Amino acid sequence: MKNPLLSIVIPAFNEEENICNTARVVQENMKKAQIPYELIFVSDGSKDATFARVAELALEDPRIRGLEFSRNFGKEAAIFAGLAAAKGGCAVVMDCDLQHPPKTITEMYRLWEEGYEIVEGVKNTRGSESAIRRGFAHGFYKIISALTGFDMENASDFKLLDRRVVDILLDLPERRTFFRAMSFWVGFQTCQVRYDVAERAYGTTKWSFFSLFRYGISNIVSFSTKPLAAVSYMGVISMFAGLILGVQTLIRWAAGKAMEGFTTVILLLLLIGGGILIGLGVIGSYISAIYQEVKGRPRYIIRQDTEKLQEYDQ
Ligand code: UDP
Ligand code: MG
Repeated sequence: MKNPLLSIVIPAFNEEENICNTARVVQENMKKAQIPYELIFVSDGSKDATFARVAELALEDPRIRGLEFSRNFGKEAAIFAGLAAAKGGCAVVMDCDLQHPPKTITEMYRLWEEGYEIVEGVKNTRGSESAIRRGFAHGFYKIISALTGFDMENASDFKLLDRRVVDILLDLPERRTFFRAMSFWVGFQTCQVRYDVAERAYGTTKWSFFSLFRYGISNIVSFSTKPLAAVSYMGVISMFAGLILGVQTLIRWAAGKAMEGFTTVILLLLLIGGGILIGLGVIGSYISAIYQEVKGRPRYIIRQDTEKLQEYDQ
């Protein structure tokens, strides 16, 4: 018999306006569908009353639990902390702003009952994102898909995982994680559920353009080594170009027509210099990833846990 408990993991960063509403909407849905559940809010070092809201709810309802990080560790860390705290036979990860429709959770849960071990939420539309963001996301996922070999275009963090998958993800030793791609990578019986991205319930997006860009780079680095190979290819191509140019220059010199090209020299210097710097940058990104993995620091630090708070109170 599978443990029927569904753990709902909700990373939350400065979401004080959303907590109560999201908890209520999700709970109503679970009650209607008669699914046993627990709600785990992971406050990712929020500067507002996010954790206080969760703690209030947790006091009244033992099915609600809140964790608070000591600082902002990022959504990935919050997801993994939530999964580590989950006690259910399966766990679903959803955003705190109700952009992931709670009724889809019911659909996912039914598929899990049928025997699927991973149920991927796939976006029908990207909601009301600005054109720039959509363009950026599109480009980013094109690159990621090409690099990882998975179709990541409409993938999201909204997915349900069986206990076995959760345990395997938690056992992976790496600290720099990319939840979306990792759940592809582990395999298992997978199916997809399509959903429409809803409008954000309250508040604004927690990602700046810059943080999204950093997230993109870090995810590519932690999931693919193809950029490193690209550096070598770049070197080979530039060597060939150099050879051809060199031969041409020699022939001209032999014919008594030495290149007058000071401009050519400057252009070549800039081009090659740029190429070398990009290559160094790529290698640097990997070294910094290795450095961080080797340090072996924890992915996140939990400052408060509502379950522990209640123990202290008693
Ligand atoms: N989030 C987080 N840590 C962060 C940034 C975001 O836990 O550093 C959470 C956020 O509270 C939300 C989810 O990740 O529950 C998705 O964030 P958001 O809605 O801002 O992203 P968008 O939907 O705009 O891509
Ligand atoms: Mg959102």
